[in-house]
Amino acid sequence: MKILLIIGDRLGEYDPLTANGVTAGLHFGDVTLLAAGPNNQKKAEQAATIKGVSEILLASHPALQKPGVENLALQINKLTPSFDIIMAVTSTFGSDLIPRVAALANCSPITGVSAISKNHALTRPINAGAVLAQSALPKTPVFLTIRPTAFPAACKTATTNAKITVIDQAYESNLSQHTTYRPSANIRPDPVAAKVVVAGGGGLQAGGSFELVEKLADRLDAAVGASRTAVDMGLASNDLQIGQTGRSIAPDLYIGLGISGAIQHLAGIKDARMIVSINSDPNAPLHGAADYALTADIFSAVPELLKK
Ligand SMILES: Cc1cc2nc3c(=O)[nH]c(=O)nc-3n(C[C@H](O)[C@H](O)[C@H](O)COP(=O)(O)OP(=O)(O)OC[C@H]3O[C@@H](n4cnc5c(N)ncnc54)[C@H](O)[C@@H]3O)c2cc1C
Repeated sequence: MKILLIIGDRLGEYDPLTANGVTAGLHFGDVTLLAAGPNNQKKAEQAATIKGVSEILLASHPALQKPGVENLALQINKLTPSFDIIMAVTSTFGSDLIPRVAALANCSPITGVSAISKNHALTRPINAGAVLAQSALPKTPVFLTIRPTAFPAACKTATTNAKITVIDQAYESNLSQHTTYRPSANIRPDPVAAKVVVAGGGGLQAGGSFELVEKLADRLDAAVGASRTAVDMGLASNDLQIGQTGRSIAPDLYIGLGISGAIQHLAGIKDARMIVSINSDPNAPLHGAADYALTADIFSAVPELLKK
């Protein structure tokens, strides 16, 4: 089978989780990458040494430099007949792009794939992770987003044999117009790729800020995450939300501060290797899911942890 994996974009830069997408793509066959948008040449160079990549398509038209993925979706639609599977990693970028490409081909995408069997059956969590749905690979073309935390990153090689092919044509959509761009101010590691994540929830409300979470995260070189309540309260930005409608993470260590552990939040941390919960309520569901649970007030327990 011929696979087209779109190189991930994170605020105009190469998304290293592309390497996890390659591992998933290699379950099906030969993986070709598409580098498009801002810094596409640099993205192609960064991805070229991923083991298993046979070819990189470099889409260079200025129309693809514009923010938004409408033009890119049109471009990929023209490439669809040459491939059996078109895929991207589940991220803000991939989740925006792949459904558009699928719709242009009159197909339904399969999103958040977390496992691929030997006979190419696809598994993905549904109902906030309470159920795993398995489906046979549909008739091609197939459009997928892949949970990066469910597949290890493909290793890098010292040199590359990937052939680079430039595609010049572009297709412009006038359906939407971009007005402003306000990048997130998060300068800490990306929670999806981080080994340690410190997340804060509604329990932070009394402090009126996320400072406690950030202090512990910085001490541990960790990423910051948040529950939806913390985001809704304006304590954390949307891109830090973890869970069913946020992002799924798989760190070695997750520390939840003042997070109850609602099923929708647990859906995003079920692949974490160790869960620590600090909550004043001994019956908080996150305590039940945790490897270590500390029943304490975060406003005294965290400063004490920092001191130690
Ligand atoms: C369709 C849908 C999708 C959703 N998607 C998501 C999602 O992606 N992610 C997500 O997180 N939620 C999601 N939710 C919301 C979810 O149901 C919960 O409402 C949310 O996760 C609760 O966040 P929380 O535990 O931080 O806040 P709360 O429920 O307010 O809990 C706060 C916790 O902090 C503890 N606490 C309070 N003060 C202190 C203190 N001083 N010291 C220690 N502990 C303290 C309390 O005991 C409590 O357990 C979704 C809901 C729906 C319906």
